[in-house]
Amino acid sequence: MADLCSPCLERLGRRVAAYRLGMCRDCFSGKPSKSIEQFGEGDFKNREKVADSQRRYRAENREKLADSQRRYKAENREKVADSQRRYYAENREKVAAYQRRYKAENREKVADSQRRYKAENREKVAAYQRRYKAENREKVADSQRRYRAENREKVAAYQRRYRAENREKLADYQRRYYAENREKVAAYKLGAVENG
Ligand SMILES: [Zn+2]
Repeated sequence: MADLCSPCLERLGRRVAAYRLGMCRDCFSGKPSKSIEQFGEGDFKNREKVADSQRRYRAENREKLADSQRRYKAENREKVADSQRRYYAENREKVAAYQRRYKAENREKVADSQRRYKAENREKVAAYQRRYKAENREKVADSQRRYRAENREKVAAYQRRYRAENREKLADYQRRYYAENREKVAAYKLGAVENG
């Protein structure tokens, strides 16, 4: 029965052509209202019942469905990526809200996967950050100012640690700076002496 939608067949006795993974387009995409429209007026009053059946079917076949979806995605990378891009473009607000919720509910998981991604894509991430900073100078400076103002203690502690761990580098940098800015440094020192 691979060519018919099994939820439709098993739950509603409807013979609907399968679209993917043994489900019709609507069962697959989880939009029961469309399935009902397709069945006609008579079934419209069973909307809740149909949605229920679909939920139950999905719950009872989680592993099977997840497996088939994984396989389908692996075999249709370009197509899937395309349809995702299209969906994101058409549902920006919805997607952003979903992402916010997901991040709030999975902080540890998200942080973990970010760490992993950064570790595995150092060059790519660095290039992206350089580009972002170059294109958003004002925004970046603003958010740095705000961060420093809100985290004075943390920033001071970080700077102390950084100075302690990079003594040689900093001394080097200072020597170079002095050598390259003799005039400026002399003027600054003079000013400091005159101002007590
Ligand atoms: Zn169906």
